[in-house]
Amino acid sequence: AKREGKSCYHFFEPALDEQARQRRQMELDLRTAINDGEFELYFQPLYSLTEDRLKGFEALIRWNHPTKGLVPPNDFIPLAEETGLILPIGEWVVREACHQASLWDDDLAVAVNISPKQFGSPDLVGKILNAIAASGIAPQRLELEITENIFITNVEKTMAILHSLRDLGVRIALDDFGTGYSSLSYLRSFPFDKVKIDRSFVTDLASGENGHAIIRAITTLAEALGMETLAEGVEDEEQLAILRREGCRSIQGYLLSRPMTAEQVKAWTGADNAA
Ligand code: C2E
Ligand code: CA
Ligand code: CA
Ligand code: CA
Repeated sequence: AKREGKSCYHFFEPALDEQARQRRQMELDLRTAINDGEFELYFQPLYSLTEDRLKGFEALIRWNHPTKGLVPPNDFIPLAEETGLILPIGEWVVREACHQASLWDDDLAVAVNISPKQFGSPDLVGKILNAIAASGIAPQRLELEITENIFITNVEKTMAILHSLRDLGVRIALDDFGTGYSSLSYLRSFPFDKVKIDRSFVTDLASGENGHAIIRAITTLAEALGMETLAEGVEDEEQLAILRREGCRSIQGYLLSRPMTAEQVKAWTGADNAA
């Protein structure tokens, strides 16, 4: 409702209205997307440099929007988190990722991104257990990627959930490492299986000596704590050579492959093994 009067407030109202309208529309669209199954998982290879082999894939959600086309996660995950819709979406992601992994070679892992909001859901552990059971994959093949944001609220409870998840046999990776404000302290609080070095550190590698030193420091520290390291966002051979030299165990990035559809995964892995 527009206000009459001297306030200049109403000049901004149409824009705000429009923003709020778009948000509401997107929330409605998201609900439809959940009901109609408009989401799709893409998969990006995780490659071990030390073993020189494919270790698995990270599942990355996409939204096949009826009019907007393929919508990337950064455009809808934040709203899904605000509205709580990330809970049903996240549950679908885990089930679908486990299902897809059940069609792959059984030495391949699947990594799934878990939003901090999901740690507030009543039965995250039970839901993940159900997804594993329904797919029939070994729990060790499921890797959960979490960011340090999960520690912002209720550290005790978060730790308890992480330990319960670990007890299921799943692996826990600390995603986007180095971007938070107190990354190091979290390494001390939980025995992560893997540390994913944020893409920003990899992108900077070509631009000078400090980048090398940071990669070396992270890999040395992680190894000392018994954690693996993976570098994200590897786009060229120069970055790869540096990462190899500085002791990084695994890589992920466009150099190997962009995220691909489940169908493309079969061709990429030469899967004659799909059940
Ligand atoms: P992330 O977990 O850090 O995922 C890596 C992102 O980097 C992906 O973007 C991937 O496509 C992109 N990437 C991979 N290699 C390269 C590279 O060499 N160069 C560049 N420039 N980018 C690369 P994507 O798929 O758009 O996902 C963005 C973010 O959305 C993810 O960041 C993750 O935080 C979130 N996300 C994706 N899928 C899910 C999901 O199922 N659940 C939740 N909660 N979040 C998700
Ligand atoms: Ca991730
Ligand atoms: Ca990441
Ligand atoms: Ca990221």
